[in-house]
Parts: sequence; C-alpha cells; structure tokens
Amino acid sequence: MPTIVQKFGGTSVSDPDRIRRAASRVADAREAGFDVVVVASAMGRTTDDLIELAERISPVPDRRELDMLMATGEQASVALLAMALRERGCSAGALTGGQAGIRTDGVHGRARITRIECGRLERMLSRGEIPVVAGFQGTSEEGELTTLGRGGSDTTAVALAAALRVREQGGCCEIFTDVDGVYTADPRLVRHAVKLPRISYEEMLELAALGAGVMHARAVLFGEKYGVPIHVRHSQKPDSGTMISRENASMEELAVVGCALKDELGRVSIRQVRNAVGLQGRLFTALAHSNIVVDDIVQTEQGAATMIAFTVEHPDLGDAKQIVARTLAELGEGEMSVEVGLAKVSVVGVGMKSHAGVASRMFRALGDAGIGIHNITTSEIKISCIIDHAEGQRALETVHSAFGLGLGNSATVAMQIDSSRI
Ligand code: ADP
Ligand code: ASP
Ligand code: MG
Repeated sequence: MPTIVQKFGGTSVSDPDRIRRAASRVADAREAGFDVVVVASAMGRTTDDLIELAERISPVPDRRELDMLMATGEQASVALLAMALRERGCSAGALTGGQAGIRTDGVHGRARITRIECGRLERMLSRGEIPVVAGFQGTSEEGELTTLGRGGSDTTAVALAAALRVREQGGCCEIFTDVDGVYTADPRLVRHAVKLPRISYEEMLELAALGAGVMHARAVLFGEKYGVPIHVRHSQKPDSGTMISRENASMEELAVVGCALKDELGRVSIRQVRNAVGLQGRLFTALAHSNIVVDDIVQTEQGAATMIAFTVEHPDLGDAKQIVARTLAELGEGEMSVEVGLAKVSVVGVGMKSHAGVASRMFRALGDAGIGIHNITTSEIKISCIIDHAEGQRALETVHSAFGLGLGNSATVAMQIDSSRI
C-alpha cells in the first residue's frame, strides 16, 4: 500500500472536536487504501502559552529547558489524536520525535534534522498500525531533546515523507491547516489574495523564507531535495488545495506568483573594523554554527575600515548580538549597533527570470504609496525591500495590487507590455 504523511497544524487539533475530525481524515485515507503516518502540532496556542509561562519564571529562558517545555505541547496532541483514532477502531500509537527516529544536531530552539531512523515507523506500518508522531521535535546524538524552530512540524512531516520514500510509492505529504492552500499573499493581511492551484518548490521556498508562514521553509527544502509532492489543504474543507511540485513551463508565464511580508526584523551593523582577509567568513561562520539565518547582507568600505550589516528575525537577535560581540572582542576592534522595527516586503516568481521590469514596477509602486526603501536585495526569482515595520501591511497590499495578483493572470499581460528594465 502507498504511504502518505498527513500533518495537522495547531488549529486543526485545537479542541476535542477538531481532534476527532482530524482522526476521520486519517481514517478516510486508510479506507482509501493508504498506509498513513500522522504528524501533529501542539493544540491551538499551546506553544505560545508555554513560552509565556517560561518567561514568567525566567525572562530569557535557558534554551535546553525551553525545548523540554515546548516539546510537551506536541506530545499532548499526538497522545489525544492516537486515542481518537483508537476510538474509531484504528490501531494507532503516539510517538515522540525521538521515538520516531528523528535525529537532529544539538542546537536547542532551532535544531536541524540530520537523519531519520525509520525502523520503528516501518515496523508499525507493516503491522497495519498508524504512527502518530509529535512534530517540531527530535533528539540529538547525545540524546538531548531538541525543537526545530517555530512552525517546525511541517519539516517533521516532509522529512518523514522523504525518509519513507512516499513519492516512489505514489504517495505525498498532506499539510492540513486553517487555510485552503497557498495564496498570492497572506489572506489574513490582503483581502483580495487569490489561492494558487500549484506552486513550484523554488517559489514556495522563497515565499516561506520571506515570511509566508503557511509552510516552514526547511520543509519545502526537504520537499525539493527529495521530490516529495506537498499538498496544502484545509483540514475542515479539504477538497481543493495547493500542490507544491517541480517547476514546469507554464509556471514561467507569471512574472510574479506571490508576495510576502516579514515584519519582525532587526538589523545588526558593524563599523570601524578593518577589512582583513577572512573577516566575513569568521563572522558568518560563527552565526551559522548557531543555525541563525542571516539575510540582506550589505558591506561598504569606509576608508581603511569597513561596515557590514545584516538582518535577522527578532527571536534570533539576542543570540546574533552575543555572537557578533564575542567576535569583535576576539578581533579587539569594531563597534556594533542594532536596529529593530524593520520589515521586509518581497515579490517572488520563477517567471522573473524571463520577464523584464519587475523591480522597477515594485519600486515605483512603493514610491507612489510614499513608502521609503532602506535596502534592496534580489535573487533570480525574488526582489525584497527593507521598509519600516509600521508600513508593512500597506506595502504588502501595495505590491500585491501593483502586480495584479488579486486579479488572476493580469500580471502576465501587464508584464509583457512593460519593457523598462532596472
Ligand atoms: P498551522 O498551525 O496549520 O501550521 P499556520 O498558522 O502555521 O498553520 O499557517 C497557516 C497560516 O499561514 C494561515 O492562517 C495564513 O494566515 C498564513 N499565511 C501566510 N502567508 C500565506 C500564504 N501566502 N497563503 C496562505 N496562508 C498564508
Ligand atoms: N507548535 C510549534 C509552533 O507553534 C510547531 C508547529 O506548530 O509547527 O511553532
Ligand atoms: Mg505552521
């Protein structure tokens, strides 16, 4: 029987009724002839509540202890979901990430999956049982409990789907959530956002990394690397959805497929440091060792000295500051400053590779709306502008409408007659 992985997000298991409904989705898939591995997030706002609780005890909780605490959220929901499946007569068993064979590096709070030992899951499946795996967590080689970063249950699900080779068997990874697919922008922020029937891994990866919280970026990376088809669906109305798959020719017709906003950004700037050979490698390796994702790196020469600035998400700012301060102390020179309250608005599309005028259209639209741009970064398939946090939502709406994203394919037509290049 082909195997599928079904992942249920926090809102999809937020109370006993929803847990029962999630169990019926799983039972339906069993009846349709699939072996099912289930992954669940913590119920509703549990993870936020646990973090708040920790902060009432310690303003900056120890990361190892915080992992111990946060991991309990997923353990509660998988136990309840397994009970609901048993009530329906399905043979199911809840597993922690470690019990399911998920091994990670030892970086608490943002661990990365290093390998998956599938033996236990495969044995359960061969006995006709349904493993119900706690998302967002694993254990390090030292046996320490770790978590994968906020939203990490998606990554658990896609990584399991890759390890169990679901694609080779004609299966996929289904992400059940509180929205019926991937939209041209977060539908909570942009009223006219439109659902996309399909999107390439490349585009979804950029959108996720740039703030589209519907998927965890590392989940998309696993999907792309191992070719796992990912189907994003509504847990209550699962009829349609968005398929995340490899790029095909028709995807290139659209210059811009979607836009995203990341509004919790801080910028770290380093000044008065000599531009010695190896400086950049030393600094960014130290940040990478702590799994801190840095972005928007800018370097400018100032006489004999240099200035380097980069952005990180607010939750990573404390660690990033400490690492930079340590590196500057080792160098015996340099000054660090930190800004908060920044945001980043981005447009994404594989069609940008072959369409001109995307950047100019975005800059003009932001300018016409009176929104100042602090910094610009581009790749082959995205353009990002750093702006003030206070302008975030307006900027997102502005670029969404500038590319006609709420109106089906009008962006294609508009881009073909816009010949200006940046
Ligand atoms: P879950 O708990 O199921 O993992 P999340 O809250 O992590 O759910 O992700 C779903 C949310 O992602 C939606 O409610 C929506 O507000 C948000 N979102 C952000 N960008 C997008 C987008 N481009 N398309 C759809 N949803 C998006
Ligand atoms: N419960 C975790 C979080 O809230 C993981 C997840 O939902 O994917 O971030
Ligand atoms: Mg999520």
